[in-house]
Amino acid sequence: MNLIKFINQFPDETACKLKFKAVRDQEGVVCRHCGSTDHYWLSTIWQYQCKRCKIRTTLRSGTVMQASKLSFKYWLIAIHLLTSTKKTFSALELQRQIGHKYYEPIWYMMQKLRKTMGVRDSLYQLDKIVELDEGFFESVNTEKSGEDYLEERKRGRGSQKQTKVMVMASTIHSVTKPGKHKKPTKFRYVKMIVVNNLKGSTVNQVAKKTINADSIVVTDNYPSYNDLSKQVWVHEAQNVSGAQTNKILPWVHTMISNAKKILLGIHHMISRKYFQDYVDEFCYKVNRRYFGEKIFDRLLVACAKHNYKEFINVS
Ligand SMILES: [Zn+2]
Repeated sequence: MNLIKFINQFPDETACKLKFKAVRDQEGVVCRHCGSTDHYWLSTIWQYQCKRCKIRTTLRSGTVMQASKLSFKYWLIAIHLLTSTKKTFSALELQRQIGHKYYEPIWYMMQKLRKTMGVRDSLYQLDKIVELDEGFFESVNTEKSGEDYLEERKRGRGSQKQTKVMVMASTIHSVTKPGKHKKPTKFRYVKMIVVNNLKGSTVNQVAKKTINADSIVVTDNYPSYNDLSKQVWVHEAQNVSGAQTNKILPWVHTMISNAKKILLGIHHMISRKYFQDYVDEFCYKVNRRYFGEKIFDRLLVACAKHNYKEFINVS
């Protein structure tokens, strides 16, 4: 959706509220007290009322927007901006664009949207031929305490370190003959999981959750991947090094370099603590690259479905 279309469709707060109500009606409102899905709509106070136990539910209650004081218009603008570009948007930039006084609530809103994207993608596993490799991203360790941290802050920087990310790309064999510079496989979906270490046990744990057991997994011969054959149908560990890995894991490396360009280009430095949310946003958008305008509605539906309590650790 382009900007003009967005403005025409959602000119004011009422239009935004009506849109969100339509999404909630379509997805079904569940009474938090008795679990009933039968509700009246009390139009004068913009609330649902359970037909069985009479408990009222606000339009935001039970959704990502619960407890947020920001207008629906802000939420829809944020969803539009995050979904209408392959790139991303910093909270600071959004705050500037909408002219909001405070940075924090805008940052939390965007974080909740990123978490919603992560929750949606976590519902799916990768399958077919899965390339797996690790990526190292620059990040800041804001959790570091003590004098080292204060010293580093005085010098205007946090503690910079590499965040380890397991990157997995689902591919299939290309039906057309690959050209000279084309990759032999066709890319399907990507997942990125931030990990504390790259031990075999960590790799297995992530793979079990993220990759379907019927998949073929391709990696280099890093020892931590040794046990993957127990998790998946076939594990192909290729004996390669350095630049050669690009050939056997082409899509994973394309994804790592694209993510670095987009994330570090916009945010410059991302805290290690929130790194997963930023890669979740990247993956969500890559995985829905053919959705076109529909991606806006999909994210809005996800916002209506997922309770903000799932993200309580945002704050
Ligand atoms: Zn009820």
